[in-house]
Amino acid sequence: MARAGRLVLSVFVDAFGWELAQRIPFLDDVLTHKAALGTVFGYSSTCDPTILTGVAPREHGHFSFFVYDPPHSPFAALRPMGLLPSSVVDRGRVRSWISKWVGRGLGWNGYFQLYNVPWNVLPMMDYIEKKDIYFPGGILGGQKTVFDPLRERGIPFSLSDWRRPEVENLARLEHDVGEGRIALGWLFLASLDAVLHAQGTRGAAVVDRLRWYEERLRRILAIAHERYEDVRIHVFSDHGMTDVKDTCDVMARVDATGLRFGRDYAAVYDSTTARFWYLRDGARERIEAAMAGEPRGRWLDDETLHAWGVDFPGHRYGDRFWLADPGVLIVPSHMGLKPIPGMHGYAPNDKDSVAFYGTNTPDAPRPSGLADLKGVVLSELGL
Ligand SMILES: [Zn+2]
Repeated sequence: MARAGRLVLSVFVDAFGWELAQRIPFLDDVLTHKAALGTVFGYSSTCDPTILTGVAPREHGHFSFFVYDPPHSPFAALRPMGLLPSSVVDRGRVRSWISKWVGRGLGWNGYFQLYNVPWNVLPMMDYIEKKDIYFPGGILGGQKTVFDPLRERGIPFSLSDWRRPEVENLARLEHDVGEGRIALGWLFLASLDAVLHAQGTRGAAVVDRLRWYEERLRRILAIAHERYEDVRIHVFSDHGMTDVKDTCDVMARVDATGLRFGRDYAAVYDSTTARFWYLRDGARERIEAAMAGEPRGRWLDDETLHAWGVDFPGHRYGDRFWLADPGVLIVPSHMGLKPIPGMHGYAPNDKDSVAFYGTNTPDAPRPSGLADLKGVVLSELGL
């Protein structure tokens, strides 16, 4: 059987940071070049659109999930949920189930979770990722993703479905590589992120998960070498993971000002960042005075936001951002009510935030940050 030409494998290992990659061997004989890869400030909701489009967050428009925008909130109908007992409607599983039902009802195909945003806050919020960012037209800023040039030219590729379990995505890629017809295999491995959140970077399951990834990738590589002349693998992550050492209660400090949410100010409390909208004169001063008593974080000035590529037009994601120090988790937040061992979304230049890149190619362009990955993959495909 004649072998096909080149296969490019893009393996996206969520949260496999450079710190971890230096400590734990991973496909060392295959990935002859390994390096740190600059991440962007935010969460996967920020990083992934940058990987797919090659542009900064301010351009693609994605950062976090919730923004204060009452006229455009699709959640008005959820207000009565706040009248039901919290012991029922705020259980994790119930919220996940409601999220699925709400997302479908609104006709969204993007990643949607209500997390722990309070029922009385939701009707003031709009949600960002309504569309699947992996589908054409899914990026808010209208940029094309790495897949669009292939779609336009009818070049076959294999793409993981983030809705499906990892094993299914692995099996799908293995099958597609075995057919020998794809030019690009884009694999998304999400479960390491979950393990790191649940156990921290020293958790026993972390090494096990990486061993299992290795095993499965070796199988795919073996099949690939049988079917293709030239197999080029690029392994990368979107960000690292930071062990949580401490928590801070930003909400309590802000509540203690006596200011009213939705009248004087609005806020989204992400896991590591609190974002504020000031609705009345004086609110900013009072909130900043209250936060001055919290030493485990800082306000991000305009210069920093610009340098990090998150100075969004019209302050879409808030007038001011307060970022916790690495390892400090905002608890409670709109994302979770309890501390967890690992989190990302800290300063992008902190060592634990830095992402990973590894390849078997001697001559492909080397990416220095997430925004370079699209160019690397397209150049590997001759596009
Ligand atoms: Zn994560």
